[in-house]
Amino acid sequence: MKRRDFVKGITAGTLVAGTAITTAPALQARTTHKWKMVTTWPKNFPGLGTGANHLASLITEMSNGRIEVKVYGAKELVPAFEVFDAVSRGTAEMGHGAAYYWKGKSEAAQFFAAVPFGLTAQEMNGWLYHGGGMELWQALYHQFNLVPAAAGNTGVQMGGWFNKEINSIKDLHGLKMRIPGLGGEVLKRAGGTPVSLPGGELYTSLQSGAIDATEFVGPYNDLAFGLYKVAKFYYYPGWHEPGTTLEAIINKKALEALPKDLQSIVLNACKVVNQDMLAEYTARNNSALHTLVTKHHVQLREFPDDVLLKLRKLSDEVVLELANKDASSKKIYQSFASFRDQAKAWHNISEVSYMRARNL
Ligand code: CA
Repeated sequence: MKRRDFVKGITAGTLVAGTAITTAPALQARTTHKWKMVTTWPKNFPGLGTGANHLASLITEMSNGRIEVKVYGAKELVPAFEVFDAVSRGTAEMGHGAAYYWKGKSEAAQFFAAVPFGLTAQEMNGWLYHGGGMELWQALYHQFNLVPAAAGNTGVQMGGWFNKEINSIKDLHGLKMRIPGLGGEVLKRAGGTPVSLPGGELYTSLQSGAIDATEFVGPYNDLAFGLYKVAKFYYYPGWHEPGTTLEAIINKKALEALPKDLQSIVLNACKVVNQDMLAEYTARNNSALHTLVTKHHVQLREFPDDVLLKLRKLSDEVVLELANKDASSKKIYQSFASFRDQAKAWHNISEVSYMRARNL
């Protein structure tokens, strides 16, 4: 049979009977990859933990069960802040968390989670997927035998819960506030005392007066923790976390051991979850904000412009110092900053202008 006829024959047979398609996979030796996913979140934690669950079930579903992913909440297999090491050494094949937790491994990691006065969710995705950010992130994590992927975003967070009004930068002096990461460093330079506490301890710490104020995420998560019961004022915007990217980290050897189609499924499932979590936060924050304001009579307050301007100036200092810590930080900062400047020029005449017009 000539090759042309042979190809024709297959096509015709496939189309008519369909059996060529349905029986083919059964002839292959089926390998099931059993993967563990460790996370920095409490098991099933709304938005973040459920996002990790969604990622795991999506990988299993898209691979038709060829990869089974079992999710472990913080402390179930390893403590929250050991997720990076656990995946790096292969104790688990993948993890879900946020890059700013790993500044002890590499300061530059912080650029891939949230930067005060940095990129919004939409801009982070633009930078990562089409602006050179992902290549830089990959190069940074490859040193740790890890492949990173964006796997969720909270959108713009809230500025936090306070029991006094913030009318000038002086109102931040001596304020003991739970605010992690670069935002915490900015608060310190504004005269406050940043405290790091896991989400589960915020309510009691604010209630007992151990802290004066706290930020967490946004209406969806903050309502669930009941923070409105222990603080009067809910401030915006979350200048310190303008679009926090959550990450999936994958053990590089484990990923490369998979056939190409499964590698693509793992990485594209991350992409789906990255977008879907942002959609979920957008929807849930809307309804939670409505509940907070109408049912619990939470008093919303916007940080005054001069407070925001001072915080922005301090943030620029902090981020520039971070950029000068090492060669990778510098390289990543340059890409990040030039993307931010261009995105700002474009978004001023698109998103910002449109939002303003809608509010006229
Ligand atoms: Ca936060």
